[in-house]
Amino acid sequence: MQIVNVVEKMVWDKMDAVLAKKQDICQCEKCRADIAAYALNKLKPRYVASSRGEVFVKAQYMDVGLAADVLVALTEAAEVVGKNPKHDKE
Ligand SMILES: [Zn+2]
Repeated sequence: MQIVNVVEKMVWDKMDAVLAKKQDICQCEKCRADIAAYALNKLKPRYVASSRGEVFVKAQYMDVGLAADVLVALTEAAEVVGKNPKHDKE
């Protein structure tokens, strides 16, 4: 039995789509992790016990309001982290 934060899964799921629209910001592993952390701090976690696996988790994806919230938080996170990457510029 595992406890999964559905919101965290959604954040990682939508990361590529959000970054694809923001080619001007750094997309390294560190910045991606910072973006995910920033977005997750803005969002309310939604935990599910996933004994029945991914089926139940996927059902949560049908929540259109939640998906929209995740997109808004991710976009904001990408803007904030993109302006202040926590590493030296190359
Ligand atoms: Zn970076």
